[in-house]
Amino acid sequence: MIKTCGRCKKQFKIITEEKKFLDKMSLPDPVNCPNCRHELRMEQRNDRQFYKYPCAKCGQEMVTTVNPKKGYTVYCLKCYADFRANVDLTKV
Ligand SMILES: [Zn+2]
Ligand SMILES: [Zn+2]
Repeated sequence: MIKTCGRCKKQFKIITEEKKFLDKMSLPDPVNCPNCRHELRMEQRNDRQFYKYPCAKCGQEMVTTVNPKKGYTVYCLKCYADFRANVDLTKV
C-alpha cells in the first residue's frame, strides 16, 4: 500500500504487518512517512510545554510538564518528600 506523505510529499509504503496492526487497533492509516513521523515526534518533544503551578502545600511556584487540571493537587519536591515521610511515619 503506497501513500503520499502529507508533510514532505514523498511516497512511502505501509507494510502489510503495519496495516494489520493499525486495523486491529482501529487506528487510521498514517498520513506521514516514517521519517516525518520521527521528526514530528522529536519536534513535539522539544515543544513540550511547561506549566507553572503553585505547590498545594507551601504555595511555591514550580514548573511541571503535566498540564494541571482544575483541582489537581501537586506538591513541590520538598513537600512531596515531607508528605511521603509523614505517611511512612503514621504507618509505623
Ligand atoms: Zn514525509
Ligand atoms: Zn511545597
